Amino acid sequence: IEANQIDVATQSLTLTGDDVHHIKNVMRLEVEGIILCCDGVGTDYRVMIEQISGKEIRCRILESFSSTGEPERVEVTIAFSLPKGDKVDWVLQKGTELGASAFLPFTSARTVVKLDEKKAGKRRDRWQRIVKEAAEQSRRGRIPTVHSLMNWRQCLAQFSSYDQILFAYERGGKALYQLLTGRKARSILVIVGPEGGFTEDEATEVVSEGAELLHLGPRILRAETAPLAAIACIHYTYGE
Ligand code: SAM
Repeated sequence: IEANQIDVATQSLTLTGDDVHHIKNVMRLEVEGIILCCDGVGTDYRVMIEQISGKEIRCRILESFSSTGEPERVEVTIAFSLPKGDKVDWVLQKGTELGASAFLPFTSARTVVKLDEKKAGKRRDRWQRIVKEAAEQSRRGRIPTVHSLMNWRQCLAQFSSYDQILFAYERGGKALYQLLTGRKARSILVIVGPEGGFTEDEATEVVSEGAELLHLGPRILRAETAPLAAIACIHYTYGE
């Protein structure tokens, strides 16, 4: 559960919003019930419920400690060209369980799904909720960020924020272990295409912008499988 207000001086913590309903009606906890909370930025709290009202739950902090569910050696952002239907939910939920630090949805030449700004904003709120629930379930200490939907140019403009850019490409590239060996990047951006894949022009362009082509093996993975395979292998290689 992500705490909304933490007062270290008084050792108190307040929960509001959907979490109140969840704790009262789903977990059916009462006063003196114990919950594990996080502040969303790396600290966990073991707390005891002191007061339950209609809209908030006040708790006393019993113990605080650094989150154990966070990768420490590398931060992986999954950039994915918007796939159809509920595949986005899958990428967000499983990607969070597997340790993604952030998600960057974008559109590229073969993206089929079209979202106007208003719809994209609403969709992002929903996506952020999916990530929050997955983070709580998997005991992450940080809630991964879901960036606003970007177009291809905006996605390319993000490259300078990362130590290493891996562009998943089924038609070429190197295996992950070759790309990671001896590199020790602290932040990695993994870019995955839509159902119809990337165009050759896009592959050429990303390489000229500093990305490396990542080959995930001889089989063609679904658009929602490829980012999960990549992130699982990256964290495995980093030993976390
Ligand atoms: N048509 C299928 C679908 O509907 O999901 C497969 C889509 S595949 C072309 C989507 C993306 O997954 C590609 O653009 C690429 O980024 C990534 N991908 C799939 N298989 C891959 C592989 N063997 N190596 C690297 N990337 C791969």
